[in-house]
Amino acid sequence: MKKNISNRRAFLKLTGKAGVAAGLSISSFPSLAKVISQQPFTSSFEDIPYTQTPLPYQYNALEPSIDAMTMEIHYTKHAATYAKNLAEAAKAENVDAGKVKLENLLGNISKYSPKMRNNAGGHYNHELFWKSMGAPSGKNAPSGKLLAAIEKDFNSVDTFKTQFADAAKNRFGSGWAWLVLTGDKKLVIGSSPNQDNPLMDIAEVKGFPVMGLDVWEHAYYLKYQNKRPDYITAWWNIVNWDYVQNRFSGI
Ligand code: MN
Repeated sequence: MKKNISNRRAFLKLTGKAGVAAGLSISSFPSLAKVISQQPFTSSFEDIPYTQTPLPYQYNALEPSIDAMTMEIHYTKHAATYAKNLAEAAKAENVDAGKVKLENLLGNISKYSPKMRNNAGGHYNHELFWKSMGAPSGKNAPSGKLLAAIEKDFNSVDTFKTQFADAAKNRFGSGWAWLVLTGDKKLVIGSSPNQDNPLMDIAEVKGFPVMGLDVWEHAYYLKYQNKRPDYITAWWNIVNWDYVQNRFSGI
């Protein structure tokens, strides 16, 4: 019995929504409501600070999939601006970066300003994006536990890649495609507009972002112009599957 309660607590901590679906009202557990409000999703894999970290490779390392000039402008201008504006928003809205994990801030993003939403999302998404890529290594496919989970939830790697690429192609305007681990430990595909992401309490598909693909035009326009599908196809060659698998295993 005690074990069941502790399982239920852990379950509710991961997904308040599923608790409601199971007929459990969060409001009947006041102490739990607070926990859920502050920690909508928890993971031991939290390696993204509030400030921009060094790019883990040279600007030209991802060629020919992504050209050096695109990488340099993307990292030093676009992403740097998100980090700068996040720092401003955190100061203005009294967020102590030493106390509030970025993941938890994103989980409560509806309580903050649009500036916070755009820039906390923009900063987190890009930090994740840089780390999820690397020079082509010959190991351009998932393996281990991640492979097993992909085969369980999508039937095959090919089906997963097709669905992910479709989400990226079909995202109208600027946004991201995501591989998301939901609160009930299922891998699903999502996409979000602008700089939103699956950690956000306002997200359509909520969960832990295992990997994400930036489909803003600034990510590909210099080399690919209007041919977003060509960028997406080329992107698979530079996925850093070791990093993606570490994120997945940490949950
Ligand atoms: Mn971008």
